[in-house]
Amino acid sequence: MVKDKDGFIVEVASPTGFCFGVKRAVESLEKCIEERASVGEKVYSIGMPIHNPQEVERLCQKGLVVTDKIEDVPEGASVFIRAHGAPPKVKKLLAERCGGRVIDATCPFVKNAQEKAALLSGEGYALLVLGDPGHPEVQAIVGCASGEVFVASSLSEVRELVKKDKLGVISQTTQKTELFAEAVGILAGSARELRVFNTICGATTQRQDGVRRMTGTVDGIIVVGGRNSANTAKLAEIASAGGCDVKWIEHAGELDKEWFNGKIKIGIAAGASTPDWLIDELKNALETSQMSRGMEGYDGRNDE
Ligand code: SF4
Repeated sequence: MVKDKDGFIVEVASPTGFCFGVKRAVESLEKCIEERASVGEKVYSIGMPIHNPQEVERLCQKGLVVTDKIEDVPEGASVFIRAHGAPPKVKKLLAERCGGRVIDATCPFVKNAQEKAALLSGEGYALLVLGDPGHPEVQAIVGCASGEVFVASSLSEVRELVKKDKLGVISQTTQKTELFAEAVGILAGSARELRVFNTICGATTQRQDGVRRMTGTVDGIIVVGGRNSANTAKLAEIASAGGCDVKWIEHAGELDKEWFNGKIKIGIAAGASTPDWLIDELKNALETSQMSRGMEGYDGRNDE
C-alpha cells in the first residue's frame, strides 16, 4: 500500500495485469514485428491481438496491421493468431495464404478448451459452452466442435436449454466461477448424462479472487482495462457485486475528480490484457500531485 500526500491509500490487487498467455503472445508478436520491420515488412493480425486499444496502438506504431479480413493479408506475409485462438477453418486459410509465416500464439489454456470441445463432440455429446457467443475465443472453441453446439452466457439461458441425453459442458476461459458452478448444478438435474470440464483458467480465477479479497477493504476500486476485454468486465462486475463503488477506465486520463469524493482507500485492479505501463501510469496519477490539482486537463501521462 502507498499513502500519497493527498491522503489516498492505494492498494493494487494481486495478481493483476498481463496473464501468462497474453504476456507470451505480446512478447512473440513484438519480436516478430521487430524482425519484419528490419526488412521493411509489416505483421498482420486478424482482429485485435489483445483486447487493449492502447497496447494495440503501441504495437501498430511499430509495424502491426490489424484487419478483420483474411483477404487483406498479402500472400506470404507474417500473420499472427492471438491468445484467444482462431477457428480451425481460419487457421487453414491463413496457412494456405501465408505458409510458414503464421505465428500461432493461442494460449495453452484456450487450446485445452478447444481440445475438450473436439473431444466431447467427437464422443457424441451435445456441447454447451458457457461464455459470450460474440467473443472470438468462444467462436474459436465452437469452431473446434463437430456436432451440436450451444452457447449460453447467463443462467436464464442455461435454464432454457432443450434437455439433451448426452451433454458436455465447458467454459470460456474467463468465465466467472460462480456462474460456471451454478450452471453445472442446474444441468445436473436435467441431463441424463453430463460430462463437465472446468476450462476456466487459473489466471482468471486468481485475478477474480484478488478483487474479491479487496472489495471489503477499500472505498472504491478503479478497474483499468480495455472496454472490449471480457475478463476486465468480469473484474468490474465482481467488484460491483461486492458492494464497491467501481470506476472502469482504459487509462488514467479518464479519471474524474468527483469520483474520489469521500474516499481514502482506493483499490486498483487490471484485466489480464492490461499492460504494466498503463497500471503504472494510474498509480503515478494517484500518487503524485495531479490528484490535488484535479484531473481536469490530465492527459494520462505523469508529468512529474
Ligand atoms: S486469461 Fe487465461 S486463457 Fe486467457 S490468455 Fe490469459 S492465461 Fe490464457
